[in-house]
Amino acid sequence: MHDATIAHLAQSLKDRKVSSKELTKHFLDRISRLDTGLNSFITVCEEEALAQADSADERLATGDVTPLTGIPIAHKDIFCTEGVKTSCGSRILDNFISPYDATVVAKLKAAGAVMLGKTNMDEFAMGSSNETSFYGVVHNPWDTTRVPGGSSGGSAAAVAAQLVSGATGTDTGGSIRQPAALTGITGLKPTYGRVSRYGMVAFASSLDQAGTLTRTAEDSALMLQVMAGADERDSTSLPATVPDFSKAQKSAWENITIGVPDNFFDDSLDTKNAQLVKEALSVFEKLGARIKDIHLKHIHLSVPVYYVVAPAEASSNLSRFDGVRFGHRAEHAENLTELYMKTRGEGFGSEVKRRILTGTYVLSAGYYDAYYLQAQKVRQLISQDFAEAFKTVDVIAGPTTPTPAFRIGQKTDDPIQMYLNDMYTIGAPLAGLPALSMPCGFINNLPVGLQLIGPHLSEEKLFKAGYYYQQETDWHNFVPSGYEA
Ligand code: GLN
Repeated sequence: MHDATIAHLAQSLKDRKVSSKELTKHFLDRISRLDTGLNSFITVCEEEALAQADSADERLATGDVTPLTGIPIAHKDIFCTEGVKTSCGSRILDNFISPYDATVVAKLKAAGAVMLGKTNMDEFAMGSSNETSFYGVVHNPWDTTRVPGGSSGGSAAAVAAQLVSGATGTDTGGSIRQPAALTGITGLKPTYGRVSRYGMVAFASSLDQAGTLTRTAEDSALMLQVMAGADERDSTSLPATVPDFSKAQKSAWENITIGVPDNFFDDSLDTKNAQLVKEALSVFEKLGARIKDIHLKHIHLSVPVYYVVAPAEASSNLSRFDGVRFGHRAEHAENLTELYMKTRGEGFGSEVKRRILTGTYVLSAGYYDAYYLQAQKVRQLISQDFAEAFKTVDVIAGPTTPTPAFRIGQKTDDPIQMYLNDMYTIGAPLAGLPALSMPCGFINNLPVGLQLIGPHLSEEKLFKAGYYYQQETDWHNFVPSGYEA
């Protein structure tokens, strides 16, 4: 059962070949047997999941269903879940039980999805390797001495090891696509505003976007269908109508032009990785797509721009964690200032502190113009380059990451090396664009990803390209050894 896609399971549930209760029990059993070596879950909600499965089965009996009814999923622990711990991977929220559901959680619940638990993540979604979590490192199921990528590494590892059929994630600078690539699954970061951010713990509000981690692009479309849409509780959510993604995805193939930026094939890219991405492009050529060389003039500045803008927004967003209203509170503080200092000193890990320091610095009176304002200007140029490119191409393709998964501990002492892992994923969120990562091959038994970036609100195009690519290839069907049975 665990090897089936969401699309497949939805059909089996509908045909009453399997019940949601059976499925839920099966996956809960896998989590208890197999997750000790991965650490992909922070919280497993056995009781709640079985109760939700019962309601899903009742609903399935009436026929009033969605493709997600009865499907076991997991949420990244950044989404507020009513009555269930929402830690965001941080000690400061270790005792936080959310009193309400995030919009994404509420929508998936209303569709009848069964929540198995909350997945591990880098603290406050800051990281590229899932090594900054208060709850410990997440291991990559393809090689447990290696990282799964971050920050949605728990969701990615759980889907790759088939401990759950699909999971939510968030992407600020690559946190869905990068772990998807390093664990051999499909990850979608939607257009900024396509999915509500209400109830998602804020990291960098102008970049954060919720999306999906699934085995296939077909499953991603099914999940996004439920998650997407305007929300009056998030003023940055887009009032755009939500198309029928599955229908669009499977419509007849039309020839597209794929832009391939030379910038994405620079010296940082592993040569075998480059070759696999080129082979993926030839699959599209066989389908009839036209490949066009392009150049994105300012994209090489995306990492420095991001590491000014994101910490600036984080330093402001994270000021709410003060030990007064919720979360961890330090003991024995003599006065208010000491309470803040002790609480934040104890509650935040070192990467989060580094971001708060950087962010506060770039926003400070003397440096605002030199760093923050300048970064915003360059961000605008990066967006304009994409807009210009999309005048002549339908999608832009390249690698998702420069290399396959690296070893746990390999980059933890060098933040700059860590940040450079995001060099191909950061451009899309800076410009608010949707992007999809799909498995396109292996290097020494480690998966790598192909990334497709589209214009604003072009998820249909990305899903369609993903669906047709996965009809032609079977990289998405490989399962890490030890997790098949
Ligand atoms: N790796 C990037 C960072 O550390 C991106 C994280 C994300 O997308 N949440 O900020």
